[in-house]
Amino acid sequence: MKYDYLIVGAGLFGSIVAREMTNRGKKCLVIDKRANVGGNIYTEKVENINVHKYGAHIFHTSNQRVWDYINSFEKLEDYTHEVLAYYKGKYYNLPFNMNTFKAIWGVETAEEAKAIIEEQKKAQGVEEPTNLEEQAINLVGKDVYEILVKGYTEKQWGKDCKELPPFIIKRLPVRYEYNNNYFNDTYQGMPKDGYTSIIEKMLEGIEVKVNTEYKDFIQNSTDEFEKTVYTGAIDEFFDYKLGKLEYRTVGFDTQILDEESYQKAAVVNYTEREVPYTRIIEHKKFDNAKSNKTVISKEFSKSWSEGDEPYYPVNNDRNNELYNEYKELAKERSDVDFGGRLGEYKYYDMDKVILSALEYCDNH
Ligand code: FAD
Repeated sequence: MKYDYLIVGAGLFGSIVAREMTNRGKKCLVIDKRANVGGNIYTEKVENINVHKYGAHIFHTSNQRVWDYINSFEKLEDYTHEVLAYYKGKYYNLPFNMNTFKAIWGVETAEEAKAIIEEQKKAQGVEEPTNLEEQAINLVGKDVYEILVKGYTEKQWGKDCKELPPFIIKRLPVRYEYNNNYFNDTYQGMPKDGYTSIIEKMLEGIEVKVNTEYKDFIQNSTDEFEKTVYTGAIDEFFDYKLGKLEYRTVGFDTQILDEESYQKAAVVNYTEREVPYTRIIEHKKFDNAKSNKTVISKEFSKSWSEGDEPYYPVNNDRNNELYNEYKELAKERSDVDFGGRLGEYKYYDMDKVILSALEYCDNH
């Protein structure tokens, strides 16, 4: 069989390229090594609840083209993401805003909050921070740092904040108004039937093979492909011949509970270092699913080793340089284009992946 495109990965990037190229009359085959389509936005129904199997996904964008595109497959339901932090028996609103400052200091106005942060910054007396702790205190003061930043960040990185470099938190979003909306984007939404149904609609009428690993497939295939669009990891494609790129991963402990509601919000961050998980997701709270049970996932931050899911690229100098070397190598393969978060070794939110996939199609 002759195809125009072999698309490796049925995640958001691969599925959009498959849809758009098919609409232009191209013949596409999509393969994915997982048992399901959707990549990391895959959701699965458990007890009538859409469970975000690879981590909680909230759709948000300020890009009109992207918003219209996703809504052309399914109109997203209105959703406003709010996150709570839990520390030593008390809840605080995130991102840091006047509700947070009122809960910590009992202040009412932005001027009062700014004055306390400034005073705590002065008390530290550090002009040029040399570690993350000093940097955070300069940005939000000692109290907010100790209650909401320290333990969470140490769990995320597996290191004391004094041992972490300051550049990790160039800025911490601080809002001097009463506003708990987690995102600043124009649009936010959540698919009623989960993200998988959107991907299934994108892939309607397109040939898809799941449980199909690229290297095994290509060795045994007699089909011909004009072009390959590869959305897996670029270093893996080249058999790690220049070295391995690093990632952070997340471990999930997912439980079905025999109760209607477990916590006050869809996402609660646990900011004490002593609590082993970083946050708990209660899936039904993303779309008000009707069920007399609930499903929660405790998230544990871990460094990545082979066999783990590569979630977040670690874009430090070493890895960025190595990625650029792979990119050079990729230029020698004019039959293959790399895209998506693994192919481009980039932390991409869903909206950025959609735009990047649409632009890829615009240019090919
Ligand atoms: P993927 O979804 O990873 O798809 C790549 C696919 O390729 C996978 O299905 C994989 O199995 C397949 N594949 C890889 N290698 C091979 C191979 N060798 N052979 C065959 N198949 C292969 N974005 C938001 O906008 N909002 C959020 O709230 C949000 N939360 C997130 C939470 C977490 C924990 C993570 C990790 C990401 C989050 N994102 C969020 C980002 C979002 O997940 C990505 O933007 C999106 O999933 C990227 O799509 P993709 O197609 O590039 O990659």
